[in-house]
Amino acid sequence: MRLPEAIVRFLDVYHRGGVTEGDCRACSSPCCSLGGFAILENVVAIFERYGRGNLRRTDFEFAPGLSFGDFVFQYFDVYRKTVRAGGGEATLMLFHMKSLSADGHLISIPGGDDYWDIRKELFERNPWLNRGCVFLSKRVGNWPSDDGDSSRHCILHAPESKAMVSAKPVDCLFFTCNRPREGRVPAPAQSEQWFRLLAEQFPDSLPRFEALINE
Ligand code: SF4
Ligand code: SF4
Repeated sequence: MRLPEAIVRFLDVYHRGGVTEGDCRACSSPCCSLGGFAILENVVAIFERYGRGNLRRTDFEFAPGLSFGDFVFQYFDVYRKTVRAGGGEATLMLFHMKSLSADGHLISIPGGDDYWDIRKELFERNPWLNRGCVFLSKRVGNWPSDDGDSSRHCILHAPESKAMVSAKPVDCLFFTCNRPREGRVPAPAQSEQWFRLLAEQFPDSLPRFEALINE
């Protein structure tokens, strides 16, 4: 399935003047130690890859034989976000990829009003905890120091990720840097538009998720 045209157009404008794919390939992916989020469509695609035995990294093994629900709650913090969309309010399911700790444990961010603030504070106060997203090819050496290891990459990335709804989380597609390792911070209006577009283009994520985990 292609990414909806409204989303492609929005990303095209948002990414203007940002880093290139080549910049990202030459980078050690520090953005993936405080990564974006997946939507339900991404999580379904990631689970399909897992089912095909195609989810592998060098220093961590994904537990075999999980059901869809167990897989999702094992590797993601699952949040409901209320979003202004379609002239009213909608619930958009957000699936935040967990980080790995130095000793290979998955780290859940405790629930609260703002996932991003809680995660930032937790990792800033306990930097030894965060060794990067569970979907990186290998752990970060000593976060927040940048070890410059450009062989580290996202195992969910695929050439078609920019055009198709795929295993690559949409919010990781959204993220860009002004210059390598210099993350672009969206204006509040841009964030609001991003969430509205996701809620409108991928509606009813809550009932669809509930149906999938109850199958
Ligand atoms: S930190 Fe910036 S330049 Fe580096 S991989 Fe992430 S988006 Fe690309
Ligand atoms: S899913 Fe991939 S791109 Fe997104 S934070 Fe994790 S490793 Fe980085």
